[in-house]
Amino acid sequence: MMAYETLATLKDVLVALLYLTSAIFFIVGIKRLAHPKHAPQGNFLGAMGMLIAFVTAFIDFGITVDVAGETLRFESGYWVVILLAVLLGAVVGVVSAIKVQMTSMPQMVAIFNGFGGLASLLVAGVYYQLSLIEGALETTALIATVFSGLIGAITFTGSFIAFSKLQGLKIIPDKPVTFKGDLAFKLMLLALLLALGVLYVLDPSLALYWGIVMGGFVLGLFLVIGIGGADMPVVIALLNAYSGLAAAATGFVLSNTVLIISGSLVGASGIILSAIMCKAMNRSLTNVLFGGFGGVASSLSDDDVYAGKVKSTSAEEVAMILKGAQRVVIVPGYGMAVARASSAVKQLSDALEADGIQVTFGIHPVAGRMPGHMNVLLAEESIAYEKLLDLDTINPQFSSTDLVLILGANDVVNPLARDPQSPIAGMPILNVDEAGTCVVIKRSLGSGFAGLPNPLFALDNTLMLFSDAKKAVEEMVRAYKEL
Ligand code: NDP
Repeated sequence: MMAYETLATLKDVLVALLYLTSAIFFIVGIKRLAHPKHAPQGNFLGAMGMLIAFVTAFIDFGITVDVAGETLRFESGYWVVILLAVLLGAVVGVVSAIKVQMTSMPQMVAIFNGFGGLASLLVAGVYYQLSLIEGALETTALIATVFSGLIGAITFTGSFIAFSKLQGLKIIPDKPVTFKGDLAFKLMLLALLLALGVLYVLDPSLALYWGIVMGGFVLGLFLVIGIGGADMPVVIALLNAYSGLAAAATGFVLSNTVLIISGSLVGASGIILSAIMCKAMNRSLTNVLFGGFGGVASSLSDDDVYAGKVKSTSAEEVAMILKGAQRVVIVPGYGMAVARASSAVKQLSDALEADGIQVTFGIHPVAGRMPGHMNVLLAEESIAYEKLLDLDTINPQFSSTDLVLILGANDVVNPLARDPQSPIAGMPILNVDEAGTCVVIKRSLGSGFAGLPNPLFALDNTLMLFSDAKKAVEEMVRAYKEL
């Protein structure tokens, strides 16, 4: 008996220590992700943390020490289930990492958030169901179950709507879908679900739990269909936070330290990112939580903005302007990612710098389709991080810039944001129009993610280079070197 008691204690201590080690790997991993230089190491540490967590789950659930019966059993059923789940997850992870294009990352993150929410609500629900057989849950665990079910359900449907909008599936319109009284409807639904949650804690039942989950599915759907256009980055960051909070709540249900710590890390970093994104978009978090912004339709047609005012140029002409410039700023956007033009951009900046021209990059916080999208692409080309200047640093410098090259960017340089009547009113933009000359490289006068015309393209000091971004920059480099 004594030996089995010691074995049981040893197992508990080992499991607790291993979960703690795994959590430390996650924390250090996140810290390392903060700079592009260390980011791969941060990713590696995070993956190692996950590996330690799997191994610990094998020990935690797969080995039972029965002190009274003096037996130590290997629970082969658990081992098989955990192994199958790990293998299935690994296959999905590896295939996604290899197949998914960099430009589709936000959609992938949305889907993963959604499944995170679903997993949390299922685990919490099943644990509660099992507890009906094995003995009642404590009040704290019941409260955590409510949060896990509600937040997990909101995350699941919300993330799938976000995925549909980002992927342009047209299942629901990309633009915000609002209706009269939708805010009141969402608030009432939330209040009803919280009331059901209180009832569940007082008198738990399976029907109540799954009722809360179903209501959460509906709330998630209505929260995200009301948001669209340039406001999507905030909602993606927020759903990311929700998936973490749902996981942390499930951690409380299971009393699993690693789930509580890793869920809190995801929840906290998601909330910090949402706050950063809100600041970047000049929005308040309350607006995001209850949706309904970005819903004003633009009354401007393309003809109003562009007719007879757009001047086009060629790569050769831009090369000549570059030859006479002293200060050049490159503003990358989503189109640079689509065209995979970052390596050509590096060649161009090297060629200009070789002639003593100062080249910097103006990076808008929501350029591209995920936070840090442009930084990642440019860092991959070994462009020095110090040359990537954020909105507040670069904006005062445009007036002393000879030429701005806008590469597949649109919404982040749209002066409509300065018009209080426009749907993107108040969104901070890069003030590229203050530079001597703006060259915009894109394939057409087509709109960006927010679906708006861009008066920048029709300004006197703007030249349009209609081309694929990679092709245009490669031609520019060739023409520049021949001058
Ligand atoms: P935009 O989406 O506003 O515009 C991108 C432009 O790239 C398009 O107008 C398109 O014009 C052009 N383009 C596409 N393919 C190519 C190509 N092969 N070569 C050259 N140009 C190309 O991008 P921005 O980066 O300016 O703004 C990002 C937008 O995305 C913002 O509205 C932001 O809110 C939103 N968003 C951002 C997220 C984030 O976290 N960063 C997440 C979700 C949304 P054309 O077709 O004429 O070539």
